[in-house]
Amino acid sequence: MSGFETIVGQNQALRALLRILKSGRIPHSLLFSGIDGVGKRSAAVRLAMARSCVCYAAQQRQPDRSSSDNPEAFSDYPCGQCNSCLRIAAGIHPDITTIQPEAGVIKIGEIRNLCRILSMKSFEGHGRVAIISDAHLMNPPASNALLKMLEEPPEQTLLILTARQSADLLPTIVSRCLHIRFNPVSRPALSDALIQHHGFGTDEASTVAALAGGSFSRALSMKKAAWMNWRNWLITELSRLGSSPIHVILALSEKLSKNRDALSDVFEIMLSWFRDILIFTCGSTHVINRDYLAHLEEASRRCSRSDLIQIVNAVKSAQAHIEARTNIRLSLDHLLLRLWQQLNMENPRSADHCEG
Ligand SMILES: [Zn+2]
Repeated sequence: MSGFETIVGQNQALRALLRILKSGRIPHSLLFSGIDGVGKRSAAVRLAMARSCVCYAAQQRQPDRSSSDNPEAFSDYPCGQCNSCLRIAAGIHPDITTIQPEAGVIKIGEIRNLCRILSMKSFEGHGRVAIISDAHLMNPPASNALLKMLEEPPEQTLLILTARQSADLLPTIVSRCLHIRFNPVSRPALSDALIQHHGFGTDEASTVAALAGGSFSRALSMKKAAWMNWRNWLITELSRLGSSPIHVILALSEKLSKNRDALSDVFEIMLSWFRDILIFTCGSTHVINRDYLAHLEEASRRCSRSDLIQIVNAVKSAQAHIEARTNIRLSLDHLLLRLWQQLNMENPRSADHCEG
């Protein structure tokens, strides 16, 4: 099975899961925490597979196999080929229940229904598994209902919660789960996986790995031509910000504010762009946007280092405001006008440049 690339770079978490499997003592409830796209759900599905895989039962009796400490071995533990594994992968195994937020929330009805299902005997004798994705989106009544179940878990059940961070869940829920952290994937691991398994070129993989913030799924979504075109458009807009009239700046703000889902990408691209120019002013070419070297060099001749530092800080500040759910349009207006002002001063390269 090709599980490795979806949980690439998670050695620590996978070793912990391997140890659990090898011990043969899988706890009633686990919490996988980490940012989106680092393999939490994929690992949860694989753990569910390992629990009921016929071949896994055979593997347990093979000392050589079970003594391996290679984290990649976790992906190979369930065979991925038997009837049970195939049905789990297809989401049609009768003993596996998955819950996902609907419209950004998990309500009590979902959790009550889950409690009812888990209280029933398993169809195939390996026990039941429930995976609650984005458990931090449970509302308070749902959280309390889940807590009750965790206090007295039904026999032979495995409950796996995934969440961005444990702090977003009730501490009483977290304390009843074995907590495994999934770290953001490192840039080199992400870049290698994109090149080896997903047909990225070296420069493209390096740019995408740097922009993806450690999230594998985010990196893959950037593979789409539409995303690259959109990113190129945004960079073009940023590079002519200082010479655009105010009504163009405000129109750009309006356009960006309409797509809330893309805002985190907007900020990552902005930060990468202005940081790259800053790096160029210091005479280095170790930049993220390697496909824009000539543009970066040209831009670095028109900006002073102190202006760029202020710009980067302004972008970070606007990002924080928007994450705190302030008015998106106002925050973007404020940011873009600030950048326009900063870039429009036609500063020549000033004395604060680093010596190459
Ligand atoms: Zn199997």
